[in-house]
Amino acid sequence: MKFEDVKLETKQYSLYYGDFQALRNVDIQIPRNAITAIIGPSGCGKSTFLRTFNRMNDLISGVRVDGEVTIDNNSVFRMDPVELRYCVGMVFQRPNPFPKSIFDNVAYGPRSQGVRDRAELAEIVERSLRGAVVWDEVKDELNKSALALSGGQQQRLCIARALAVEPDVILMDEPASALDPVATLKIEELIQQLKKEYTIIIVTHNMQQAARASDYTAFFMMAEDRAGYLVEHGRTDQIFTNPQEEITERYITGRFG
Ligand code: ADP
Repeated sequence: MKFEDVKLETKQYSLYYGDFQALRNVDIQIPRNAITAIIGPSGCGKSTFLRTFNRMNDLISGVRVDGEVTIDNNSVFRMDPVELRYCVGMVFQRPNPFPKSIFDNVAYGPRSQGVRDRAELAEIVERSLRGAVVWDEVKDELNKSALALSGGQQQRLCIARALAVEPDVILMDEPASALDPVATLKIEELIQQLKKEYTIIIVTHNMQQAARASDYTAFFMMAEDRAGYLVEHGRTDQIFTNPQEEITERYITGRFG
């Protein structure tokens, strides 16, 4: 699928872990200020694909890539990875707050960017926690350990931590899979709000979540040699009601995977 306002793009992108090819020739455009869901069976390369955009795969030894990956038409491979990761934030499957106070978790990124002024930090912390819809629950206990929060609150705190460095893109790797249904719905509502200002990619193995929470869906599969490839990409309603490929239909109706 092609878009007028493209935020992220890959062209003939492949990734290898040593001799094993995990992704093959992925061509995709990710539109700005929308939610794109990545779905597909376990092992088809969804997380690997997500980590492409902030170059987290660089941290794994033996990884080699081919092809182009761009953000706003600039190659991510020519950017400083630290700068790139300020632009492209990430939220993981299990909430992973630092063993620090709520305040210090959110202030961590801005501090590492050189913000020292306490009032400025306080303002950033409040704005980020509000943006992640967790401010009202924690505003009176900012000095409390983040580890004392519930799982759902911790995940929204981690989203606040990502927002604090003012990214353009937020990558989410199954952000609700460790949460109960109520906390999951809160995260999904939050993601809907965030798309006004951010480009969001969310990996999920939960079909209902992809159908409910995303604007566009990309379906990945594995080839016979287990390399992941993009089968199809389109509006979420179209993928779920009128997929172009039979294999997509089989997957979304639960007939394999
Ligand atoms: P998914 O998120 O769709 O479950 P992954 O991206 O986690 O898939 O994995 C894709 C493939 O790459 C799998 O075959 C997995 O075993 C392999 N893989 C993932 N991480 C590594 C790694 N660090 N080293 C070697 N192989 C890996």
